[in-house]
Amino acid sequence: MKITEVDPFYFQMSEITSAADGTQDTLLVRIRTDKGFEGWGECDASPLVSIAAYCCPMSHGNIINIRKTLIGETLNDTSDVVRLSEKVLRNGLDIQQIQHAYSGAEIALWDIIGKKFDKPVYRLLAEMFDVSDTLHPKLPYASVLFGETSDATYQIAVNLREQGFRAAKFGWGPMGKFGEENDIALVRAAREGMGSAAQIMIDAGVVWGTDYNTAYQRAEAFAQFSPTWLEEPLAPDAIEAYSSLTGMNPAVNIAAGEGSSTFRMAEDLILHGGIQYVQIDTGRIGGILPSFHVRQLAEKHGVQYVNHTFKSHLSLAAALHVFTTNPDFNLLEFPAAGSELSQRLVKNPFQIDNDGMVRAKEQPGLGVDVDIEAIRQYLTQVDIKVADETVFQTAEL
Ligand SMILES: [Mg+2]
Repeated sequence: MKITEVDPFYFQMSEITSAADGTQDTLLVRIRTDKGFEGWGECDASPLVSIAAYCCPMSHGNIINIRKTLIGETLNDTSDVVRLSEKVLRNGLDIQQIQHAYSGAEIALWDIIGKKFDKPVYRLLAEMFDVSDTLHPKLPYASVLFGETSDATYQIAVNLREQGFRAAKFGWGPMGKFGEENDIALVRAAREGMGSAAQIMIDAGVVWGTDYNTAYQRAEAFAQFSPTWLEEPLAPDAIEAYSSLTGMNPAVNIAAGEGSSTFRMAEDLILHGGIQYVQIDTGRIGGILPSFHVRQLAEKHGVQYVNHTFKSHLSLAAALHVFTTNPDFNLLEFPAAGSELSQRLVKNPFQIDNDGMVRAKEQPGLGVDVDIEAIRQYLTQVDIKVADETVFQTAEL
């Protein structure tokens, strides 16, 4: 079959704040074929910057936009997804954010192939990479922001525990901004609110930059609360600083990787950063295929792969297919406090099963359906003109 339409859609809440809440807007990509198949993907990226990668005028042979590369192409099986991904990245060699923007389209291609062959994406991956296709349930950890104070954080944690979460990650907000005493109070509140039996994770939100000494001190101070990990204490690409930090053997494991917008960045963190958990966002790194390559690298080096997902359950579905067939990678970042837009985005969100676990969808493709009518109100019309020529106009939803 042939690809006939490649359309990015910009959705946003009516009010956007500077909170570290990536669910306030989003970019979805819809791909259609001449055989009536339709696939969807979501990028965790600036929608407008990403749209540019779908419509920018050709500058030369290394700056050809994603849409131009894909429309009219043949799409029959998973080998075409590989071929088209290589072509998109080759044609966009000098478009710096190409992987980030392409993620949504790549995920949509997998969705289509899964629907065509009537298989969930994780089975397609298992066949392609010759790995087990047994689905393993994951323990969802609620992913939330710290409250502005330790009291507020305690209340958030209590609410999560009452909702039944056995694990939760607290991040960003005041962490790292008001001194060690406040940082410790925040982590103590998270632990006390969740209870001693729960797993807690701490996300420092890159707050210490390249200052690995402070990161080490905090890791040591947080150890009394037994967090599963300390996440992104340093800047995403501070590989040397990560190496110094992990070389000091802090008493808490170190996690990082959500900032990987290429396979290479994740590879660097695994091979040279010394991290124990690698967190990959399929909506940033270029989609499902490069995420799977990171999973394989993590397996090889004894690092635990975890998804990074702070968007809708469309992103969660894509993320889960990547590592559901690995029994050891047992934690799942589960968006638990997103915007109305992110919560209404799919008709069939993931449920936490009676055993407290989440399972990948068995339906063809990603296994979730975008709820067009629910999110239509958040659609933002985009018209981009270059001189007198319209190079982009939001398609009909
Ligand atoms: Mg994080």
